[in-house]
Order: sequence, then structure tokens, then C-alpha cells
Amino acid sequence: MSGFLFNDVIFGPVNSRRLGSSLGINLLPVTGKLCNFNCIYCECGLTSNNISQLIDKVPLRERVKNALETSLLKIKNEGTKLDSITFAGNGEPTLHPEFANIMDDVLFLRNTILPETKISILTNSTTSGKPDIFNALLKADQNIMKLDAGTEKMFRAINRCKIDITLEDIVKNLINFKGNLIVQSLFLRVKINGRIIDNTDPSEIEAWLNNIIKIKPKMLMLYPIARGTPINGIEKINFDELNKIAIKANNLCIKTRVYE
Ligand code: SF4
Repeated sequence: MSGFLFNDVIFGPVNSRRLGSSLGINLLPVTGKLCNFNCIYCECGLTSNNISQLIDKVPLRERVKNALETSLLKIKNEGTKLDSITFAGNGEPTLHPEFANIMDDVLFLRNTILPETKISILTNSTTSGKPDIFNALLKADQNIMKLDAGTEKMFRAINRCKIDITLEDIVKNLINFKGNLIVQSLFLRVKINGRIIDNTDPSEIEAWLNNIIKIKPKMLMLYPIARGTPINGIEKINFDELNKIAIKANNLCIKTRVYE
């Protein structure tokens, strides 16, 4: 199944299950997904190998700034409710070469036009070891960082990383946030070529929780797949099952919410 791509730099506001009324910023190309993961559940579809070509097609910083300013002024003038300005879109936003500067532009525009609105970013956590990106992520009100697995084996099976980074590296980077982060984890079950991939398995949950304890996020977001996936047959984990995982995290004093 092919994936869904946003066709502009700014999209929405959309009604987000986790963020409320959300105006999206897509720092990625509109012609193809740009990511260093190839998650089996990615709504944008499978990741291609032409990262170097796609990186040339990201929108210029000035274009992002102008488009966001226009949208925020319209929202303000129309009195539309806006909960979040959200970096999301067709892949991993922090791969944009000017991500850190764009974060500063977004902060300036938010503070000037809609100071009550939160700035959120959905990221796969892989670039958070780079100092400029780390610092930029700390400027967001909600830096929502992906951690779907407790073991290297599950990490490779679900996220299918295309760069040389391990789950252990990612966990170390997340620990460096000293609790100033939100962790997002998607749970699923699927059989691919006869092999079961299940990050709800008790031993996987235990390993994942061990990582969560080390990271100590200010909040955990648990959720299942919501829309189409590029791999067929992925099971949507129901609320009760996710809630049992949430209770385990809550028992470790980690504030946890489940989203359906
Ligand atoms: S990190 Fe996000 S954009 Fe990248 S493959 Fe995974 S779900 Fe898709």
C-alpha cells in the first residue's frame, strides 16, 4: 500500500488525537518521504533509498517562515482555536539542514502572533545526539520522541533504521534530556514472512520499561496504529491492552496516557 503525503509546507489545522487542534509544519519534500527510519507502520509509506536527492527538495527556511506567518495571522484573525504548532509531515523533521534555525523562527512567530499556542515536534529521536538539534528540541513545549522497542532486535524489526545507530545510542541520547521530553511509543503485532513482531510481548515490555526508567520522561504517550500502513496485517492493539502497559509505567511514577 502506498502512503499518504502532505502536499504543502503548512497543513491544517487538523484534529490530532494527541495534540488537539494542530497546525502542521512539513519540513520535508512534498514529492516523497524523507526519513532515516523505515517503520513498518509508517503512514507515509515505505522509505526509499534516494535520501540525497530528496534532501535537495526540502523547503527553504524563508518559505517556511513566510507560510507559517500567513497561516498564523489567518488563524488569529478568524479566531480559530489552535492548541499546537506541530513539526510533523512527510518524514523526520530534524533532517532538514536548517531545522535549528527554523525552530527559532517558529518560536518567534508563535510568541508574536499566538503566544498561548504550544510548539510540538514529533521526532524519531535519531538525531538528538547532535548538539544543535538537541538544543532546538529543548526549545519546543512538547518534544515528543519515539521509542517503540526495548531490545535491539525489536528496534530493528519495527523501525528498520537506515543509518548506523543502535537502540542503545538512542536511549543514551534520550537520557541526556534529563526528563525534559515526552516519549511516544507505538504498540503493534504482526506476522511478516512467518516471523512474529510483537512489542507487547511481556519480555519486550520489561526491556522497554527498563529503558523508560533510565530516560524518566515527563510523560509517556502510548498509541496503536490509526490509519493505513505499508505492511499489511498489522494488528491494532486495543485500549484495554495499552492501558495495562500504561498501568505498569504509572506504577513506576511515569505519567502515561493512552491514545486510541
Ligand atoms: S520515523 Fe516516522 S516518518 Fe520515519 S518511517 Fe517511522 S513513522 Fe515514518
